[in-house]
Amino acid sequence: MSYVDEVLEVVQKKNADQPEFLQAVTEVLDSLRPVIDANEDLYRKNAILERITEPDRQIMFRVPWVDDNGQVQVNRGFRVQFNNAIGPYKGGLRLHPSVNLGIIKFLGFEQIFKNSLTTLPIGGGKGGSDFDPKGKSDREIMAFCQSFMTELCKYIGADVDVPAGDIGTGAREIGFMFGQYKRIRGMFEGVLTGKGLTYGGSLVRTQATGYGLIYLTEELFKNHGQSLDGKVACVSGSGNVAIYAIEKAQQLGAKVVTCSDSTGWVYDPEGIDVELLKDVKEVKRARLTEYAANRPSAQYHEGRGVWQIKCDIALPCATQNELLLDDAKQLVANGCIAVCEGANMPTTLDATKYLQENGVWFVGGKAANAGGVATSALEMSQNSERLSWSFEEVDAKLKNIMVTIFHNIDDAAKRYGVEGDYVAGANIAGFEKVVDAMLAQGVC
Ligand code: NDP
Repeated sequence: MSYVDEVLEVVQKKNADQPEFLQAVTEVLDSLRPVIDANEDLYRKNAILERITEPDRQIMFRVPWVDDNGQVQVNRGFRVQFNNAIGPYKGGLRLHPSVNLGIIKFLGFEQIFKNSLTTLPIGGGKGGSDFDPKGKSDREIMAFCQSFMTELCKYIGADVDVPAGDIGTGAREIGFMFGQYKRIRGMFEGVLTGKGLTYGGSLVRTQATGYGLIYLTEELFKNHGQSLDGKVACVSGSGNVAIYAIEKAQQLGAKVVTCSDSTGWVYDPEGIDVELLKDVKEVKRARLTEYAANRPSAQYHEGRGVWQIKCDIALPCATQNELLLDDAKQLVANGCIAVCEGANMPTTLDATKYLQENGVWFVGGKAANAGGVATSALEMSQNSERLSWSFEEVDAKLKNIMVTIFHNIDDAAKRYGVEGDYVAGANIAGFEKVVDAMLAQGVC
């Protein structure tokens, strides 16, 4: 049995109740087979795969807080510190009722390779809670965030572990958590990223994941002798990633005709009005029905359905496992050229395979949405320097990073004889650097 298969068997046994984690490990290790086979003796002797699939530590804790009726509520908090071979742990905090240890582990595992790909010195981690911020008052959000940080602050620090936002954790939540960290630890340091601009946040962080996704997509098209100008794109989601992906895609001449949320989706053949979408989602925090009610050209549909619409480019930007095999078939039948993932693991394994086998250029989230964490690392650099860079400076660095990522993954795929397989390319490029650091640092 090959080393990869042996380790996959053990990982499956040990984590049988964590399907998302198993999906992520299987996807990564499968695509790394060419590298692992070429170095099997060295990696096996050093138990590289056993070590890289086992987090350094997993922290789970109780988060008690009082709601507006005076009732005590209890949620579960998580921080998985997965691998710090190349830098302090770095990864977002997800606040969503679906959060469990398996989901945080899947995200933390992916984060190792994504962070490595950014070319910046950051390790992999992820955290969050099953707390649902929807419908909560600002006071309730603050009560939760303060309680969450009261425990989390024992395990993080500017040179140890630097959490950031993710689903359900935006500037408001980061602000409350930062305030509590400062109060307890008595230190003003860059312990969180995604901070407000008045207290150490970086310009472009808000836009970074969406813009970065489009910078990489633009480079992908350039590499194939094409441009985004005049292309039709379908986006799913209408959160942070989706909104800024839509904005940048439209700035570069593409027409984005869809977006969605967890209850429905919008088809707007005239192109999504991004200012209206920002008003509905960022200001009013309302449903997409509100968008449709204010936009005569838009059609609102309940449920899911974004991938039925004919497009050149599909950009899944909502959540994991939201682009299924049937969706992939529909996209191919409609002549879709490229799928670039804004969300983390939005495409199922069978859908990914189908897209790749049918000639669709497919760039996974690890590379395509790395702009967010890359800009977080730029925020860490600015905090360390105690300086703030201009919007143009950060944006130019972000663009440069995304272009470099594209070429690194393209080159890695070519080096191992899987040209055009950007999923394998991303895993290989991210993995090589981490393994090199792990081998250099001995058994730890
Ligand atoms: P937000 O919370 O801002 O937005 C998430 C969007 O996805 C919302 O429109 C939400 O709808 C929708 N959504 C959530 N769950 C579901 C579901 N089960 N079915 C359909 N739609 C759903 O999150 P972000 O935009 O920040 O993150 C989106 C994805 O991108 C996640 O996978 C995240 O991990 C990933 N990502 C984010 C980064 C960032 O910098 N923000 C960086 C890298 C990756 P509703 O409003 O109804 O909840």
